[in-house]
Amino acid sequence: AAGPIGHTVIPIVNKLQDIFAQLGSSSTIDLPQVVVVGSQSSGKSSVLEALVGRDFLPRGSDICTRRPLVLQLVHRPRKTEGSEGGDEWGEFLHLPGKRLFDFAEIRREIQAETDREAGGNKGVSDKQIRLKIFSPNVLNITLVDLPGITKVPVGDQPSDIEARIRTMILSYIKHKTCIILAVSPANADLANSDALQMARIADPDGSRTIGVITKLDIMDRGTDARNFLLGNVIPLRLGYVGVVNRSQQDINLNRSIKDALAYEENFFRNQPAYHGLPQCCGVPQLAKKLNQILVQHIKNVLPGLKSRINGQLVSVAKEHAAFGDVAESKAGMGIKLLNILTKYCEAFSSMVEGKNEELSTS
Ligand code: GDP
Ligand code: MG
Repeated sequence: AAGPIGHTVIPIVNKLQDIFAQLGSSSTIDLPQVVVVGSQSSGKSSVLEALVGRDFLPRGSDICTRRPLVLQLVHRPRKTEGSEGGDEWGEFLHLPGKRLFDFAEIRREIQAETDREAGGNKGVSDKQIRLKIFSPNVLNITLVDLPGITKVPVGDQPSDIEARIRTMILSYIKHKTCIILAVSPANADLANSDALQMARIADPDGSRTIGVITKLDIMDRGTDARNFLLGNVIPLRLGYVGVVNRSQQDINLNRSIKDALAYEENFFRNQPAYHGLPQCCGVPQLAKKLNQILVQHIKNVLPGLKSRINGQLVSVAKEHAAFGDVAESKAGMGIKLLNILTKYCEAFSSMVEGKNEELSTS
């Protein structure tokens, strides 16, 4: 069950992170957080799940996500050949040491833990649920699922529910390193999009906002989202990607992510309105766009990392002069690391410029 996120970036980032870990270097690559924003039931949780490639988030037509879920994906190398089942698991911060291998159980625990803090009657809380997913198919990145914007209080919600949720969302997306996935459903007018409105407050020049248009499959007959996707309605610097996620019926029937992706591909193939826009259509394209942004980010931070390691090398060299052998082996490792980094910087540059899409990690 490989998630489409990071197919190109996973190997190289993991290799770098492994090298840093081996050398006990304090310098490492921090990838930006990815946060989904939008109105309730716009499809935020569905988009995150599709990106991760596993079923584990509560989704539905009612309010499902009622606390921020901070999802840390942690890369773990595959154990051994043929040990299929045990390679991917989740661990909650509130259940230390407990490995959940069953992703349906992870979803039930998210629901139970939501109820513990926010009650069983639609209450919303800004207290985080923190979940780590360990898997050989992910790169080390943090995704955040947030409650959606609602206007009319229901159940136990306070009268100022909308303002509270907006404040909560802003507290995440205001950070300059965060990538915003602004999720808007295609069956509503983009000019009414809460997602784009919030994103614009936090990221006025649109340098870290990706527009995601969901529910292309259930638009009013005779309409399509071509102009949304082309940015003709509301321009966005990083552009839009349209997706088709699973409907409520698909969820009720336990339709798999794999089937959903095949359905989506088929949908785009059979809709002439979307022909000629391959870079704007489908979850795999969204993953690709995200990857390009991550790669650009890595490219931007590598020179800084290099100079920090260079600095460390100089101090190790001084130590060497004073203490001899031990420091010498440390210096040797440092030089090796520097060489590798230099190689990666060059490789990344050509990758970002599109000369070398499938980067070799050997
Ligand atoms: P969230 O509240 O923004 O997290 O939205 P969810 O991911 O929970 O989805 C809300 C409802 O919309 C669920 O019943 C989903 O099955 C449905 N849904 C989400 N995306 C799509 C889509 O692209 N097409 C269809 N038909 N339904 C979708
Ligand atoms: Mg949700």
